[in-house]
Amino acid sequence: MTNFDSTAIAEFKNVWVFCEQREGKLSSTALELISEGRKLADDLGGKLCGVLLGEKVEALAAELGGHGADEVLVCEHPLLKDYTTDAYAKVLCDVVAGGRPEVLLLGATNIGRDLGPRCAARLHTGLCADCTHLDVDVAKYVSYLRENSTLDVDGTEWDMADRNLKMTRPAFGGHLMASIICPRFRPCMATVRPGVMKKAPYDLAKAQAVKVVKPAFSLSEADLHTRVTETVKAAKKLVDLIGADYVVSVGRGIAKDVEGGVKLAQALADELGGVVGGSRAAIDSGWLSADHQVGQTGKTVHPKVYVALGISGAIQHKAGMQDSECIVAVNTNAGAPIFEVADYGITGDLFQVVPELIEAIRAA
Ligand code: FAD
Repeated sequence: MTNFDSTAIAEFKNVWVFCEQREGKLSSTALELISEGRKLADDLGGKLCGVLLGEKVEALAAELGGHGADEVLVCEHPLLKDYTTDAYAKVLCDVVAGGRPEVLLLGATNIGRDLGPRCAARLHTGLCADCTHLDVDVAKYVSYLRENSTLDVDGTEWDMADRNLKMTRPAFGGHLMASIICPRFRPCMATVRPGVMKKAPYDLAKAQAVKVVKPAFSLSEADLHTRVTETVKAAKKLVDLIGADYVVSVGRGIAKDVEGGVKLAQALADELGGVVGGSRAAIDSGWLSADHQVGQTGKTVHPKVYVALGISGAIQHKAGMQDSECIVAVNTNAGAPIFEVADYGITGDLFQVVPELIEAIRAA
């Protein structure tokens, strides 16, 4: 990137969120990140800007404003109609170089996971992937680094920011949570797991007040190395775990009668008006398709009620469900770790307990 110095940290201000949209509809992750970005911008004393890329996307700006954006940067171009890595990375880097945000957030979605690292490399900054928590850290880590750092590999005296985005993500297979800062480069970039941050309520007055800005960028056919020739929708509708209020998940505990166990979970989910999820053991065994997986390498859910049937409660599973409003666990082993996070624990065989639960719900 010409005329862009990622080490000139004092020049960078404001929080930006790349807001993913498809076919003119914003992703729920975009709205979650805008809501989280609002808190960060308030803590950092800057503006919150949504960044929209697409062909005709200006109409979405109001929705972003309603959820907390002060400003929306709208980049419209026919070559941005479908997502391609080249076009989106070119335009996003152009506008970041022009606007110099202190923080740039993307969803840890297929698109965000593709776009984020490429932009970070071009912008000569770092990126913390798959974050589950963000906050602003003032000075603490930097003073530690100043005293202890041996990282000035080429003898360069780097400036270090006194305030940083503290990005937290699971590490070492989910066994610990790592807090990471990027003290020497800007923007601080992070991808954030879908479903982790809470969406703020919509505010009509804020939606009407949002400012639309059309930043300068350049894009031509010569920038593209790939082209979308056809979009094929998945034949099977994927389960909407993240948006569900009730999730009934099965684990290896259904092994003695897989078909019967999945049917029982589906019956309970139907009774509650929810959907069926599963542990990785259930997915790896081929009992449910991958879109049902809850956990560190699956989806993060926080429904009103999460029912865990025959799931032990490994740390990687808990990482995806422990923030549910109410957790019900059924397990034959009274010492199973799932009971540590359960609000209601039933020690028993799920094949006996679940029909009784369904009967009780019907009778209520
Ligand atoms: P098990 O641990 O085998 O537990 C089965 C439970 O069923 C036991 O507690 C048993 O007492 C109970 N049971 C048996 N029969 C019955 C019955 N009839 N009625 C009631 N209870 C019964 N796991 C995830 O779930 N999601 C992830 O995203 C994920 N990501 C991972 C990422 C990494 C890097 C790694 C290393 C692992 C990951 N795992 C993940 C795997 C995780 O560590 C566990 O292996 C997995 O969650 C275990 O699934 P389970 O609880 O279904 O099976």
